[in-house]
Amino acid sequence: MMTNNGHTANIVLPLTNNGQRAFIEGGLLPGTFEAQSVHFHWGSANSRGSEHLINGQRYDVEMHIVHKNVRYATVAEASLRSDGLAVLGVMLQAVPSLISTHFGLNRILDRLPQVIEYQSSTSIAGRLTMNDLLGDSSTGRFYSYNGSLTTPDCAESVTWTVFSDSVKLPRRQIAKFWDLLDERSLPLINNYRNPQEINGRPVFQRTLI
Ligand SMILES: [Zn+2]
Repeated sequence: MMTNNGHTANIVLPLTNNGQRAFIEGGLLPGTFEAQSVHFHWGSANSRGSEHLINGQRYDVEMHIVHKNVRYATVAEASLRSDGLAVLGVMLQAVPSLISTHFGLNRILDRLPQVIEYQSSTSIAGRLTMNDLLGDSSTGRFYSYNGSLTTPDCAESVTWTVFSDSVKLPRRQIAKFWDLLDERSLPLINNYRNPQEINGRPVFQRTLI
């Protein structure tokens, strides 16, 4: 189910066929983390909306796949703990081509016209696996650091993994984000937080390929 919550288009991920959740572990991650939800940050017709900059470059859209440490019962509880959440960040890049092989993300973007209004929801047919979300983008190169949520109250509870390789999607698909409306029926655009000071924290770059 995907919902316009006034801040973003948020997808609550269903359980897999065998009643489990996709999970990630290893690297900098302090535990095992289960996939919970997916949401997006975007710009507008004349601005880009990613929250992370890679080598100074901002991308059109940034997808966040939010994972919860299995030791905590709920995302709300986990967000209060320094080891509570892990988020995968994926950059989406608009390209002119009408051709895209990224069927999983296109299934999501195709449904955006159903969540233009604040608090409207739509279902996304079929399962959404990590492969569906990441497509054929390489996940072997990524940055990792300990940071915060980018929405209030920006709790310092997130182990971030940001992939260096972007996913390319037709601009007409990316453009569907710009039609969404917030709780005041105003355009829901530029819903990203600006980059924060690094404050001396280490940022690790990993290459697994
Ligand atoms: Zn986010």
